[in-house]
Amino acid sequence: MGFAEKLVQTMSVRKIIKMGHPTLRQKAKPLQKRDLTKVRFKNLLSDMVDTLRDYGGVGLAAPQINEGIRVVIIEIRDANLRYGVQELFPLTVFVNPEIELIDSQTEGFWEGCLSIPGMRGYVERPQNISVSYINELGEGDTLELHGFPATVLQHELDHLDGVLYVDRMKDLRSLSFEDEWARYLKKN
Ligand code: ZN
Repeated sequence: MGFAEKLVQTMSVRKIIKMGHPTLRQKAKPLQKRDLTKVRFKNLLSDMVDTLRDYGGVGLAAPQINEGIRVVIIEIRDANLRYGVQELFPLTVFVNPEIELIDSQTEGFWEGCLSIPGMRGYVERPQNISVSYINELGEGDTLELHGFPATVLQHELDHLDGVLYVDRMKDLRSLSFEDEWARYLKKN
């Protein structure tokens, strides 16, 4: 096994930076297609998947592990269902994603963020979107997302522009600690 292959297999859980870290307020840079074939990118992707699963989230943007590039991953697994998530979503890699709204229908969800641990806030977002992106193989792709996955992708895409869900809240009075949220606000 060569050195490069060994690197690909060296996966690790990275530290997720929290609100207050300047990287979370910066605009991330697009990747070039040629960057996607590099071992460094493959390692970053492995780290992002390991980190997302270890922290038990449904989405992760590269800036959350202090990498200022436009890469987002989303995965909704059985393990996430305890958070009240209804739909599963296979692991998907979005490089340089661009969103278009299909219509103006919005819905609110109690969002959380691995960079704002232990809190929830109510955010309304468009529910029918189309996303154009480059996948992990370097191929251009588009996907339509509806409902919760559409909300998750918009939340993650905001991270690429230095925006956090608290910026999207119409009323900061709904910002809650998770235990109080689960007790008083969560709909069962
Ligand atoms: Zn987040």
